Amino acid sequence: MDRRTFVRAAGTAAALGALPRTAAGAPSRALSGYEPWLEVSAETLRANAREVGRLAGRRPVLAVVKNNAYGLGIARVGPALSAAPEVWGFGVVKPAEAHALLDARVTKPILLMGLASDDDAVDLARRGVRLAPFSNDAPRALTGIRQRAGVGTLPVHLYLDTGMGRLGLPYHRARGWMEEVAGAAGITVEGIFTALTEDDGFDAEQLTRFTALLEETRPGGVRPAYTHAASSHALFFRQDPGLTMVRPGLALFGAYPAGARERGLADLEPAFRLKAKVVRVERLRPGDSVSYGRNYVAERPVWVATLPVGHADGYPRKAVEGAEVLIGGRTYPVIGAVSASHAIVEIGDWPTVAVGDDAVLVGPDHPAVHPNTLAERAGISVYDVLMHLSAGLPGVMV
Ligand SMILES: *Cc1c(COP(=O)(O)O)cnc(C)c1O
Repeated sequence: MDRRTFVRAAGTAAALGALPRTAAGAPSRALSGYEPWLEVSAETLRANAREVGRLAGRRPVLAVVKNNAYGLGIARVGPALSAAPEVWGFGVVKPAEAHALLDARVTKPILLMGLASDDDAVDLARRGVRLAPFSNDAPRALTGIRQRAGVGTLPVHLYLDTGMGRLGLPYHRARGWMEEVAGAAGITVEGIFTALTEDDGFDAEQLTRFTALLEETRPGGVRPAYTHAASSHALFFRQDPGLTMVRPGLALFGAYPAGARERGLADLEPAFRLKAKVVRVERLRPGDSVSYGRNYVAERPVWVATLPVGHADGYPRKAVEGAEVLIGGRTYPVIGAVSASHAIVEIGDWPTVAVGDDAVLVGPDHPAVHPNTLAERAGISVYDVLMHLSAGLPGVMV
């Protein structure tokens, strides 16, 4: 089987919920050729869901899988996380993401946490996707969408703005609106949610605004089954008493929000590896340089190796500011410059790596390549380490 066929077969098997393995047991061996690739572990995703569920006090989890499941591949991640009992459903931001989950045979509820055009909303409603209304005219608009979709009831999660200033209806004029939506024929307010600013001083105020509004509208018939505010950050840093659901993304993929790893509250593991094969091993003479701008000049004879993975694949340019790569159990510093499709590592006095060796640029295998370590060393957000992974990377479930 050639690599493309394998990757396709793996994708199909993953969509069906199976875990493809090669005869050798190590999927990376089956990937011939020198393109970088992504390995995603269904088992680790489910273990992280267990940890998140425990952190959340066993409340159901709305798994946020926007932006191609944070770079890991929505068609790979959806079915894998769907099998986790802790996961109630999925949160996405774009209609195409909801359709991708459905096309991957995900049957758990999906919430679109963004604005859909009327036509998109009708398509989504027909497929059972929950909308997150926040416009003034929602009571009327939702009725129109329900009728055009031809569905008996339209479950929605009301999106409230308690201070984020991004999406949601501003909380200070939401009361009558909430009651009106809840009272509209055929519309079920299944959930109500808000997004926290993750500002230590302000999150508590946002939660106070949110829960006060929930209390005030209860007598008027607004009785959602689910209320949610907590993203990964709040799981580690903020109590949200009384709310019945949590809504993390990052933690499910095994990375920690900034400052959370040190708290020791959960044992998450990166659920993916960014890998590439060594394509060149050479010895530099003193004075020889590496990559654009001659950022690195050898002071003594030294071996270097080239990996065919660069910033266009999602490996950060700023990795040269201290990141390391794992090859054959040892770590090697990234040097020179990360170009679009290549990165170069310093090997040392001896050629301890060979062309064709597997390299792990990001993954769970060593503290140096943990996504949070890479983010810290490169001086970037850990969200960028995941979210910038190219959707074009071949991927395989392991
Ligand atoms: C992205 C997102 C989340 C998840 O955030 P994490 O920090 O990745 O846990 C939750 N809610 C909304 C509205 C989001 O856009």
